[in-house]
Amino acid sequence: MNPEYSFFDAVCKSFDKASKFTNFDAGILEQIKQCNSVLRMHFPVKIGDKIEVIKAYRVQHSHHKQPCKGGIRFSEMVNLDEVMALAALMTYKCAIVDVPFGGAKGGISIDPKKYSPYELEKITRRYTSELIKKKFIGPGEDVPAPDYGTGEREMAWILDTYTAMHPGEIDSLACVTGKPVSQGGVRGRKEATGLGVFYGIREVCNNQKVMDRLGLSIGIEGKKIIVQGLGNVGYHAAKFFQENGAIIVGLAEYEGSIYNDFGLDVEAVFQHRKSTGSILDYPGAQNLGKNTDALEAPCDILVPAALENVINGENASRVQAKIIGEAANGPLTPEADEILINKGALVIPDMYLNAGGVTVSYFEWVKNLSHVRYGRVEKRFMENQNANLVSQIEEMTGKSVTDIQKKLLVHGPDEIDLVRSGLEDTMIKATNEILDCWIGNPEIKDMRTAAFVVAINKVGTSYSELGIFP
Ligand code: GLU
Repeated sequence: MNPEYSFFDAVCKSFDKASKFTNFDAGILEQIKQCNSVLRMHFPVKIGDKIEVIKAYRVQHSHHKQPCKGGIRFSEMVNLDEVMALAALMTYKCAIVDVPFGGAKGGISIDPKKYSPYELEKITRRYTSELIKKKFIGPGEDVPAPDYGTGEREMAWILDTYTAMHPGEIDSLACVTGKPVSQGGVRGRKEATGLGVFYGIREVCNNQKVMDRLGLSIGIEGKKIIVQGLGNVGYHAAKFFQENGAIIVGLAEYEGSIYNDFGLDVEAVFQHRKSTGSILDYPGAQNLGKNTDALEAPCDILVPAALENVINGENASRVQAKIIGEAANGPLTPEADEILINKGALVIPDMYLNAGGVTVSYFEWVKNLSHVRYGRVEKRFMENQNANLVSQIEEMTGKSVTDIQKKLLVHGPDEIDLVRSGLEDTMIKATNEILDCWIGNPEIKDMRTAAFVVAINKVGTSYSELGIFP
């Protein structure tokens, strides 16, 4: 990544391009665009026998809805500009999927691979204390979640630090999402971003008009897909694509990329990497070389699911995919965006496509505030109702259903069923809102601009309705 490159400026550039298609006062637009609160901190942590000064951030981009929401990343590349950009994207992302939060993002500038779990725990807990001191965390204020380099383990440490410092606070479980299920997490959160990526791309592929424009057949089945990054998002997205009949022809990780035109088995590649330490030399696949080489290999759909700016002015013209699904945050630079639009490719934008994570985080937050697991109250009632219905039908028709059919028909919803159907519905609705805006307005040239228009309209209306701006 080029450190000179301002990611926040790129987000603002996309915002400005889209704001021309909205009717808000320039002041409202400016208020939406800027980051409301920025916290930059340095704190000491004893690592071995040395004291290390750790640099970290939390940015709250918008307070038009509260709490603020967004992940925390651990990476050496974390810097203020990046955290600001990602916080802004969270605001637009939440608006698009109708999740009632303002956007935020946090980051600690460390390479987590260089620290032991004990050291990471010390850093995470100290970071949480800093957030508490400044009131940058709390169920009604700001609710962190996992992001690049963090997961359930870090969220459990954050929760424990917060609850220890807020004894008796009944809603404290809702201070962070992406927790382990045993610590108040919700079933289905781990794979939510990847599943949302799948639902979003599938919905776009089910749209006849869009597929006609691209010269592709309708549906996801048989589509050739390359996924860059086998982390939590890329791994799950690739698995859902494969399970639903798409062909995963290419996969990429730090160490390089592999390709097989007849398809790769995602789980087998994942296990191969686990045992050998690399995806390279996977039996039957061709080694392509660098990690970024997979971006230029032949396929219908390319899913960059790693870091930002991987497709840029230098390599965009060599991308062969007709659809680029941005599973990561900001994988395309504005130059790459322009080149791909001119080539007639479709870029499905990050802030909508990877919104599955925050959507299910919202379900987790609601679960924590309501203090009851999804499905707990209604499951048995639904099963009794369904069983009555099945026996009535059997009686009326004189035919009986098989035991397997009965099991399927009678089944009442578990938490995972409700979470997944809530996510599917959210992604389908968001996709169609964006596609309607794009297809309905010939002056809007790309889906990213349409997504920004939808987001700005929602945030702008919310500000106007708050009465801040008459
Ligand atoms: N870090 C994820 C994102 O960028 C999830 C955020 C959340 O769940 O709050 O969307």
